[in-house]
Amino acid sequence: MNNFSYLRVADVASAVNAVAGESDTFFIAGGTNIIDLMKENVTRPKRLVDITHLPLTRIEEREGGGLRLGALVTNADTAYNTAVRHRYPLLSKAILAGASPQLRNMATNGGNLLQRTRCYYFYDTATPCNKREPGTGCSALDGFNRIHAILGASEHCIATHPSDMCVALLALEAIVQVTGPNGDRSISLDQFHRLPGDTPHIDTNLARGEIITAIDLPAKGFADHYEYLKVRDRTSYAFALVSVAAALELNGDTIADARLALGGVAHKPWRSREAEARLVGQPATRETFEAAAELVLHGAKGFGSNDFKIPLAKRAIVRALETATRMGNA
Ligand SMILES: Cc1cc2nc3c(=O)[nH]c(=O)nc-3n(C[C@H](O)[C@H](O)[C@H](O)COP(=O)(O)OP(=O)(O)OC[C@H]3O[C@@H](n4cnc5c(N)ncnc54)[C@H](O)[C@@H]3O)c2cc1C
Ligand code: SF4
Repeated sequence: MNNFSYLRVADVASAVNAVAGESDTFFIAGGTNIIDLMKENVTRPKRLVDITHLPLTRIEEREGGGLRLGALVTNADTAYNTAVRHRYPLLSKAILAGASPQLRNMATNGGNLLQRTRCYYFYDTATPCNKREPGTGCSALDGFNRIHAILGASEHCIATHPSDMCVALLALEAIVQVTGPNGDRSISLDQFHRLPGDTPHIDTNLARGEIITAIDLPAKGFADHYEYLKVRDRTSYAFALVSVAAALELNGDTIADARLALGGVAHKPWRSREAEARLVGQPATRETFEAAAELVLHGAKGFGSNDFKIPLAKRAIVRALETATRMGNA
């Protein structure tokens, strides 16, 4: 373990000041990811800034009907919040599909967005990894890549983003609120995470010194027809091989609106607007869903051990959309 100093802050401005301009200083919230990364010697902070005492622990109504989720509300408190359960059950279900009860009691909403990939080589400091050490190469390309990306990957990195919560947030068009040295700004969930390109060491578009203060949910929650389907090696305590957040608005048997996002398949939660457009105006049938699934996976590429994810993702999309359709019609 490397030595590091520890600072606890009580307001957002102090948190931003403590980190801005300091490349070896990191925030710590629930600590469920950053402490693991420190133990494995992947992240070596000189200083940790504890943000758990910041006043970002509330879930509040927004003007116009949405909800604001404080960055430091735990994943458990978010998933079990009455408003979230009733108005955004897709989000609640996605969060509860992740990790374990103990972890969800510690993990925060802000930390969930910033958790790092579970690529085995990223955690193994004896192997080359462009994300951990830019320019060293990618061990997964020709290695064991069963959990890796099939969409949006690059020759520099084929890692996936591991969050379940973010897949639902993407489908719900959530907005991330941040504060930094240059003031406040909003980033859509879609623009928050990045594809690897030739800079796989940069996971998100958050600038140095910026802190996530909240996540805003728009009013539309698709509470009547939704599904979060997570396919994984074990039914608990395992990351997604493929996950699907499906949300539909139905007018009789016709699809009036649709959202479709996938997890476990790319460096960021993956939304297919093309497939959503293909669904709208169509009858909610298996044939329609299969056509949408083909569109989502158009251009998908496996790297050997993960080839199975392509047909798996197609079947998962169809099943999630069928489940979402049947809700309320039983
Ligand atoms: C065994 C295990 C299984 C898991 N399974 C799943 C799973 O199936 N699905 C899933 O989605 N997740 C899973 N997780 C991951 C877990 O959800 C994350 O570790 C957790 O959400 C991170 O939140 P945290 O508050 O503990 O973050 P921390 O570990 O405290 O921080 C993570 C990162 O975020 C930064 N950070 C934290 N808060 C902020 C903020 N407000 N603003 C700016 N930066 C911030 C920190 O600097 C750090 O870089 C699992 C974790 C473990 C250990
Ligand atoms: S896939 Fe990305 S994280 Fe994994 S070894 Fe390659 S560069 Fe590193």
